Amino acid sequence: MREEYFPLRSEYNDYCNWVAGQLTNLRFHLRCMDIVYNTAKGYYVVYCMKLPFGHSVIFKCKRLVIGIGTAPYIPSSVDKDLKGVIHSGQYKYHKAALLDSQRITIIGSGQSAAEIFDDLLDDGKRPFWFTRSPRFFPMDYSKFALEMTSPDYIRHFYHLDGSTKERVLKEQSALYKGINQELVSSIYDKLYERDLDSATVKQPYLFPNCALTQVNKADNWLNCQFVHQETGRTFDHKTMHLILATGYRYNTPRFLHPLMNRIQWTSNGRFDVAADYHIDRDATIFVQNAEMHTHGYNTPDLGMGPYRNAVILNTILGRAHFSIEENVPFQGFAGPGVGMS
Ligand SMILES: Cc1cc2nc3c(=O)[nH]c(=O)nc-3n(C[C@H](O)[C@H](O)[C@H](O)COP(=O)(O)OP(=O)(O)OC[C@H]3O[C@@H](n4cnc5c(N)ncnc54)[C@H](O)[C@@H]3O)c2cc1C
Repeated sequence: MREEYFPLRSEYNDYCNWVAGQLTNLRFHLRCMDIVYNTAKGYYVVYCMKLPFGHSVIFKCKRLVIGIGTAPYIPSSVDKDLKGVIHSGQYKYHKAALLDSQRITIIGSGQSAAEIFDDLLDDGKRPFWFTRSPRFFPMDYSKFALEMTSPDYIRHFYHLDGSTKERVLKEQSALYKGINQELVSSIYDKLYERDLDSATVKQPYLFPNCALTQVNKADNWLNCQFVHQETGRTFDHKTMHLILATGYRYNTPRFLHPLMNRIQWTSNGRFDVAADYHIDRDATIFVQNAEMHTHGYNTPDLGMGPYRNAVILNTILGRAHFSIEENVPFQGFAGPGVGMS
């Protein structure tokens, strides 16, 4: 028996395939290009392009739920088109070239960075690993921390004021940005064992507190410049391949541009997302995974998807068709007597 019961990614993929195979209302290989609102008729017209051929397909609807995910984030200091620069999302496509590389450098200290470092270690490589964070920290999977992945915490966070939300989010990195604890330990143990067998003098190749500031091409190499976050020292580091495990960010899609005037915006130009995830005055446009600034760090969490879906569908239906769990945690996030039902 396995000691832990998280499904494998391949098992989750099988599950999604199983669900998708039973639904007749899903359409694949369609890219949404434009959405316009027909004011006279009171519906949206969604223009899509059929991939890969390019002919157009049009849908009409009264409600929209935008769930297009996030895009790979490349720091502004890096030209993504430089040869040898790879975002972690493309890692598998470049694996063969990486195995031949004379030097690989990984940037970032989240789960993706750690999995790539671990994978390359297993293939006998010795990549350099830099992070701006003060340490290679584990994700907090303790039980009271996990209680915050709940409707109760989302509701609490939602009602904080804007500047408090920004501050709280910055303090919550360990809840969603770190590395799986077992993987941290396993990497450490592999490094320890490898060094034990090595005749050469131990050299560090993991560097916390180092922010990448610039990357230039120098012959076949990439010259990376860093600044140490505590000492302020700047230094250069040469590498053949640079893997940016720098995460993903939400970009407002071009297809929403014709609807800009229907959407409500915050003072700093982000969606003004209501508690039930709508972003327009009439509660006809909803977002999923674009509401970190309003709903908090649970926004990209797959496990909370059913909750978000239930909230959105209840609004669309105009009744509580799906029941929503309340008072799940032992903790009262806003203090005694607040937010209990
Ligand atoms: C390596 C890795 C491991 C992760 N592990 C976990 C985990 O263990 N637990 C967890 O909760 N989260 C995890 N996450 C995060 C989680 O995968 C994401 O937050 C989640 O997939 C986001 O779901 P989404 O539906 O918002 O976006 P996506 O999964 O990105 O789906 C968006 C969809 O929209 C489609 N799309 C985009 N633009 C258009 C368009 N113009 N027209 C039509 N379709 C479009 C895309 O093709 C895609 O199918 C992980 C992420 C990564 C990268």
